[in-house]
Amino acid sequence: SEEKSLNFLEEIVEEDLKSGKYPSILTRFPPEPNGYLHIGHAKSICLNFGLAKKYGGATNLRFDDTNPVTEDTEYVESIKADIQWLGFTWANELYASDYFEQLYAFAVQLIQKGLAYVDDSTSEQIAAMKGTPTQPGTDSPYRSRSVEENLQLFADMRAGKYKDGEKVLRVRVDMSSPNMHMRDPIIYRIKHAHHHRTGDAWCIYPMYDFAHGQSDSIEKITHSICTLEFIPHRPLYDWLIQQLEIFPSHQYEFARLNLTYAVTSKRKLLQLVTEKFVDGWDDPRMPTISGMRRRGYTPEGIREFCERIGVAKRDNLIDVGLLEFCVREHLNKEAQRRMVVFDPLKVVITNYEGVEMMLSEDNPEDPNTTQREVPFSNEIYIEREDFMENPPKKYFRLAPGQMVRLKSAYIIQCEKVIKDEAGNITEVHCVYLPNSKSGADTSGINVKGTLHWVSIAHAIHAEVRLYDRLFKVENVANEEGDFKDYVNPESLHVIQNAYAEPALANAKFSDRYQFLRKGYFCMDKDTSEEKMVFNRAVTLKDAWAK
Ligand code: ATP
Ligand code: MG
Ligand code: MG
Repeated sequence: SEEKSLNFLEEIVEEDLKSGKYPSILTRFPPEPNGYLHIGHAKSICLNFGLAKKYGGATNLRFDDTNPVTEDTEYVESIKADIQWLGFTWANELYASDYFEQLYAFAVQLIQKGLAYVDDSTSEQIAAMKGTPTQPGTDSPYRSRSVEENLQLFADMRAGKYKDGEKVLRVRVDMSSPNMHMRDPIIYRIKHAHHHRTGDAWCIYPMYDFAHGQSDSIEKITHSICTLEFIPHRPLYDWLIQQLEIFPSHQYEFARLNLTYAVTSKRKLLQLVTEKFVDGWDDPRMPTISGMRRRGYTPEGIREFCERIGVAKRDNLIDVGLLEFCVREHLNKEAQRRMVVFDPLKVVITNYEGVEMMLSEDNPEDPNTTQREVPFSNEIYIEREDFMENPPKKYFRLAPGQMVRLKSAYIIQCEKVIKDEAGNITEVHCVYLPNSKSGADTSGINVKGTLHWVSIAHAIHAEVRLYDRLFKVENVANEEGDFKDYVNPESLHVIQNAYAEPALANAKFSDRYQFLRKGYFCMDKDTSEEKMVFNRAVTLKDAWAK
């Protein structure tokens, strides 16, 4: 096979292994448990776990749970389930909150070195003193507090002596740095809030910049991969590690994945859920991993997509059609073929009697395919759109006098159209050609059209849900105003009463189906004793230009 060129992260890892900088690599996936994972996270997961897998290393799952207000164990559980479903296994399940004591000790160390101070200023005052990118900031009046005073005040902050916002701990770096993140950033704030894991043990919480790099270092992460917006944070990341003289983890940045017709921000996705634009985080229209799973996407398809888009260093917008293409390619290989009629037209086969079991391949793409029995009788449904009373030229479906093949059954010929008083076609009468049975056809007749069908007496009812894009515009982030104004009101189309061949009565949640001529489907969790429900994952047609 063709040798694929390395992406820039693979190049870095290979170099680091070759030079002996690290004997092996350790990456991490660090979600904040404040929402469900989305396709952007899938990219990060494939990257972090994929790198470790390729180079014989390991990956930690670390919950970045330093913000007690927005986090919840429901999210922790969903995140774990999603990563496993994508096909990855973490070496250790870790929580930044497990490091609270160690992080506190690091902060004390910085105070002792004269590198951190307690600031009583309000957040407005601190922001004003930061200056602007073109103008240096000004020192806080609290910047020169003594080590002893800072140690006492920081201990008091921890002990709960102060209210939210009364004090913060800042590192003393450089108030005139051209990098705003280096102008004495806050590393601890007071928050009297219950934490989903540490309960009420803490009322001070570390800021992202302090918790993240130090957690990386505690775990001895070699390559800490994050998205581009963290480039300006890297000097602080390195500075803290250097001052604390701890394991030198390194941060590398790549471009966030943005998808057309979608939003990939947990904050926005949460709004869609709470404001009922969708039916939960796992609504099949959501770009969440749980939504894609429910819709019928496969881990293989999603992983292939992440592989194909590569690792960019510049922000870009990826065509959702590529994701659909990758999912479709995989489903074509694994989906079981079934026949389902969405909009029925009754066909009576006037010269046929009894019931016969037709054999049909479950998957013609599979050389070892099994076959299933499909009952055939003298009353069947075809799609209403597969019949025309006055067809144009080159219409190869059913029409008066014309012949079509019924998939895995016989050739039929239309003899008569039955209408009600209003002139609507209620049924079509046909004859079948007894010597035209699929697999044993001696009729010598070639017909161009093949239709899917179901025997009326044997059909089972099913609800079918068809999905369109959740947003009407390609680049949602580029639009003015509220992103929710661009939600597509026609993103869900429900067919209440479709007719399915009886084999679908044994459908499994884990299986994927191709409904002939209709697309790829999976059974939805709303399926009950009374009603089967199927979601369309993707259509058959490939709109993606390769
Ligand atoms: P969001 O904006 O959706 O809240 P986040 O970056 O705040 O995203 P985290 O839970 O912190 O969410 O993300 C965990 C990891 O996934 C981080 O390393 C982050 O960089 C990565 N990640 C998040 N979104 C994307 C994306 N769209 N593309 C690539 N990686 C992403
Ligand atoms: Mg984050
Ligand atoms: Mg976020």
